[in-house]
Amino acid sequence: MYNVKSLKAEEFISDEEIKETLEYAEANKNNIGLIDAIIEKAKLKKGLTHREASVLLACEIPEKLDEVYKLAQQIKKDFYGNRIVLFAPLYLSNYCVNGCVYCPYHMKNKHIARKKLTQEEIVKEVTALQDMGHKRLAIEAGEDPVNNPIEYILECINTIYSIKHKNGAIRRVNVNIAATTVENYRKLKEAGIGTYILFQETYHKESYEQLHPTGPKHDYAYHTEAMDRAMEGGIDDVGLGVLFGLDKYKYEFAGLLMHAEHLEAVHGVGPHTISVPRIKHADDIDPDVFDNGISDDTFAKICALIRISVPYTGMIISTRESQTVREKVLPLGVSQISGASKTSVGGYADPEAEKNAEATSEQFDVSDQRTLDEVVNWLMKMDYIPSFCTACYREGRTGDRFMALCKSMQILNCCHPNALMTLKEYLEDYASPQTRELGMKLIDREIEKITNPKVKQTCYEHIHDIADGKRDFR
Ligand code: SAM
Repeated sequence: MYNVKSLKAEEFISDEEIKETLEYAEANKNNIGLIDAIIEKAKLKKGLTHREASVLLACEIPEKLDEVYKLAQQIKKDFYGNRIVLFAPLYLSNYCVNGCVYCPYHMKNKHIARKKLTQEEIVKEVTALQDMGHKRLAIEAGEDPVNNPIEYILECINTIYSIKHKNGAIRRVNVNIAATTVENYRKLKEAGIGTYILFQETYHKESYEQLHPTGPKHDYAYHTEAMDRAMEGGIDDVGLGVLFGLDKYKYEFAGLLMHAEHLEAVHGVGPHTISVPRIKHADDIDPDVFDNGISDDTFAKICALIRISVPYTGMIISTRESQTVREKVLPLGVSQISGASKTSVGGYADPEAEKNAEATSEQFDVSDQRTLDEVVNWLMKMDYIPSFCTACYREGRTGDRFMALCKSMQILNCCHPNALMTLKEYLEDYASPQTRELGMKLIDREIEKITNPKVKQTCYEHIHDIADGKRDFR
């Protein structure tokens, strides 16, 4: 039908194949025999093709969807346990030469405050994030070869990793910057980045070109093939995503899964993460202008289907989503969330200045505005383990090595104790008395779940060591 391996990403994720997929899904949305067979296949926990997953997305039969939700919850438990990894975005610069019509950083926006952090300001921002307890950051920047060249991004990464804080350094910097060259990806790899994240925004080429009318991002093929160049440059953890609301969600969903299939087929490793952002109100952006917005129920259905279609790929939900929506989708397969995020440039060190400023530098409104302590507390009340773990990446378990571990489900033996140890560090260094009390009880309970006696003993010892002031066990 089509050749996964020999086609470039842009050719493989073709409009023709997506349209055929959607027709096939629509024609089979009530085909109980096929739906049951697809669910049975998903129960093997090895994933689904974009065609199979699209049939389930089209299906509206409540009992079948219940099965999908139950399976998503089970797969989440099997591969990720009850851990939720926490991170925060760090906006370096909002200078941008693109014309993305959904983003207030677009070049024509003259009333937004344009800012670019100096290295001194980065130290202040990162210190503010470390003062909250963050260990993992995702750096964000507009695309501007003059104001934010790759050298600037590399310098910022270097600064971030070298900041000494009384409670330890930032341990993982993920990067969300515009599509770039193999050479620049190689430089990012050498700078020690974690995941390279780039949202496709939309897989619908025609819409893509209209939504990105000007600037380098207009080039659909260059953008779509960014992950291939990143992998060629040695980055083996890449993060995909679409901005839901720009185009029809069924189209985007099929495109997203095809992109994952392409990476797996060509590079031998699928995406490390998938993000599911939805368009938010921003400075001169009204999300209602885009008429493809999806309801919370559809959003949850997409999350559950991503979980069962690509079980080894982490899923990220940002503070674009409210506490209520996050509660709805967390059990369906989310593995990472951001907490206490600011989408302004310089917003962590001096939130008052941003609030009182005449013009904002924010990228979009944040729905979940709670503090990190509140987020940690909330997660634990729902029986999740908030994790600040970065061990896999620091131990070189990236790309196919991480995937192999994940596929064998051995990650549970390794991640569970690591999560508990990093939580213990958080409780010692940052937590409010209520959060601390809740966390100590949770650690006592969760440590008992470790089945390997040796691992359990080591975990006990390290938890005591952390109470005595030692840090950073892996
Ligand atoms: N400049 C880089 C690029 O082109 O990919 C970095 C991206 S930007 C800092 C991060 C992401 O924010 C974008 O990829 C886009 O999906 C998302 N975004 C932009 N405007 C948004 C809005 N109004 N609401 C929600 N997300 C938005």
